[in-house]
Amino acid sequence: METKLALCEAFGILSRGEAVDCITLRNGVLTARLLTLGATLQGLEVPDRAGNSADIVLGYSDPQSYLDHPYYLGSVVGRYANRIAGGRFVLDGVEHRVDVNNGPNSLHGGAGGFHQRVWAVEALGSDPVPHVRFSLESPDGDQGFPGQMRASATYRLHANGLELLLEAVCDAPTIVNLTGHAYFNLAGHGSGQDINGHHLEIAADAFLPVDATAIPTGPTQPVAGGWFDFTQPRRVGEGLEKGDDPQLALGHGYDHDFVLRAGRQAEPSFAARLLDPESGRVMEVWTTEPGLQFYTGNFLPNGLAGKDGAVYGRRGALCLEPQAHPDTPNRPDFPSCRLDPGQTYRHRILYRFSTDAGA
Ligand code: BGC
Repeated sequence: METKLALCEAFGILSRGEAVDCITLRNGVLTARLLTLGATLQGLEVPDRAGNSADIVLGYSDPQSYLDHPYYLGSVVGRYANRIAGGRFVLDGVEHRVDVNNGPNSLHGGAGGFHQRVWAVEALGSDPVPHVRFSLESPDGDQGFPGQMRASATYRLHANGLELLLEAVCDAPTIVNLTGHAYFNLAGHGSGQDINGHHLEIAADAFLPVDATAIPTGPTQPVAGGWFDFTQPRRVGEGLEKGDDPQLALGHGYDHDFVLRAGRQAEPSFAARLLDPESGRVMEVWTTEPGLQFYTGNFLPNGLAGKDGAVYGRRGALCLEPQAHPDTPNRPDFPSCRLDPGQTYRHRILYRFSTDAGA
């Protein structure tokens, strides 16, 4: 019997009445599950070094849980991923106020951001690779952001990984910063293990120190020699367990943007490599954007009910979110996140999988 490589099925109905579909993409090695709600990566099955597959991203079994919890599990976040200080910025001399939903700041586009919308399926197929393209209309003034925007999120399943292409156009000058907010645990989402044992390398020589509300403060800080030095692979738990850095205290762990060596590029560059030594699963993240938010699930509550009966907790997964730097609309010293009419915002992310033979 033929197994369909790209398939759309009903996932459930939200209490507000909207239906949510689940798209399954498979290629015989990897399987990805994507939801029309938030263009969300709901599941991603990846083999370990013995060929055994496990689902390595956190998710829920029902659509309503995605609206009821503020953790952005696997969703595409926008219009502005990460924080905008005070929920305000000035563009061409006009002040704009956006939804404040995280202390005094705006986070991930505000409480009703792109992760809470049901996106349309614009294309679905398996030629040349299994893929789905979601699109979303965001009206002028949506969450306080100027201009009418059309955004899309295209997932393509390649032989060695998953690609996420994020695009947007707008009919007026605006700002934009889209990313995928997947929480990874390479031991498996339901393994019950925390991510302290994962080894991580980040292609960054500097990061952005933050204040108590997670807004970048002054200039970038070199990582050399400190707990933020991931220029060589190191165990994530080292800094979390022993770290005496005030930045780790302020972030409640790692919750910082790293300044990627490659900067903004037309084609993706290597950003990070994550290894689970036990299973041998390796994930590389590649991006066209200049920043990588590394977040160690510090605010995931213990006892959170996940899909397939799994129970999640603090540090049960980590996020590697490529993006423009936080608060860029208020930071002329950062690479701009401005989008003008006639331009297309384009952010390409690659999650590449392989296995490590082990010791
Ligand atoms: C942020 C965290 C936030 C989380 C929400 C991350 O991108 O950096 O501070 O708590 O998203 O799930």
